[in-house]
Amino acid sequence: MSQETEHVKCLIIGSGPAGYTAAIYASRADLKPVMYTGLLAGGQLTQTTEVENFPGYPQGIMGPELMEDFRKQAERLGTEIRFGYVSSVDFSSLPHKVVVDDVKTITADTVIISTGASAKWLGLESEQKYSGFGVSACAVCDGFFFKGQDVAIVGAGDTAAEEATYLAKLARKVYMIVRRDEFRASKAMVHRVLNTPNIEILYNTETKEILGDGQSVTGVKVINNQTNAETDLDVTGFFVAIGHHPNTDIFKGWLHMDETGYIITRPGSTETNVEGVFCAGDAQDHIYRQAVTAAGTGCMAAIDAERYLAAKEHVVTA
Ligand code: NDP
Repeated sequence: MSQETEHVKCLIIGSGPAGYTAAIYASRADLKPVMYTGLLAGGQLTQTTEVENFPGYPQGIMGPELMEDFRKQAERLGTEIRFGYVSSVDFSSLPHKVVVDDVKTITADTVIISTGASAKWLGLESEQKYSGFGVSACAVCDGFFFKGQDVAIVGAGDTAAEEATYLAKLARKVYMIVRRDEFRASKAMVHRVLNTPNIEILYNTETKEILGDGQSVTGVKVINNQTNAETDLDVTGFFVAIGHHPNTDIFKGWLHMDETGYIITRPGSTETNVEGVFCAGDAQDHIYRQAVTAAGTGCMAAIDAERYLAAKEHVVTA
């Protein structure tokens, strides 16, 4: 039940690279943004180790430290950052209504959604134990650390196929663990995988356990679901590429989404189907999913919000 109400010009939901970049631009445009961080303040990058591909850090930077830098910059420029979880929204009329932690209602002239996406995991205890220590859900982020080593990747969709071929350029050998006897990925991607000599595909195979020495990954136990034969793969890296789910459930029914829940924005912009509501980052991007692309669309969202408000003001005062 909502108890308090507050009005803001620009509300930013989510605190990954998209949200913080939107915050930086919105602050500088004097939109006096208020950000709710969500439960995982700083987003997916706070769960990674070293980030080497974010421009501006020639020596690389640890993910949590990078997000701390984002936060400090947004705060210094005037964003009010609050820890809290948006539990529901009502976009039926202006201003938009957003409920935080089930108790507080905020009305907002503009809303920037940057709630991101979460990687799907297999759900094994050992997978969680070695997350960041050999287990990763992002080959582009972490593949480099396995240069010349043997790795395994699980999944058979376009992401897995793309990441397997990416890893094959760095690793000595890539085992691709496919649970059925065929891929889900497009023909072109499968063709690329089949034509990469250092990828070995293990069909009808499932992951039983990630093996490790207590510090990092040393192998993977897999089982053939036809014969029940178990094999230990000698790998130091284990990549999970079984899909992502966008964190957009609370917007269902209000915003147009694709069949997997990614918010649809007007091409070349961050506008959603509701006026004054913009979306940036992984909540609307299932293709690139990089910190730098999320930051780019965060910047776009703040500019779109600022222009939307300026146009409205112009109509009111004209
Ligand atoms: P998908 O949902 O397409 O594929 C997920 C894959 O993971 C499937 O092969 C599925 O197996 C497998 N999987 C799911 N759960 C498990 C599990 N518990 N154990 C083992 N395997 C599992 O996700 P993607 O991320 O690959 O792709 C998402 C969307 O993004 C797709 O529409 C894709 O086409 C698109 N995309 C496009 C790209 C491009 O055009 N360049 C690049 C990357 C993605 P199964 O097949 O048996 O269900």
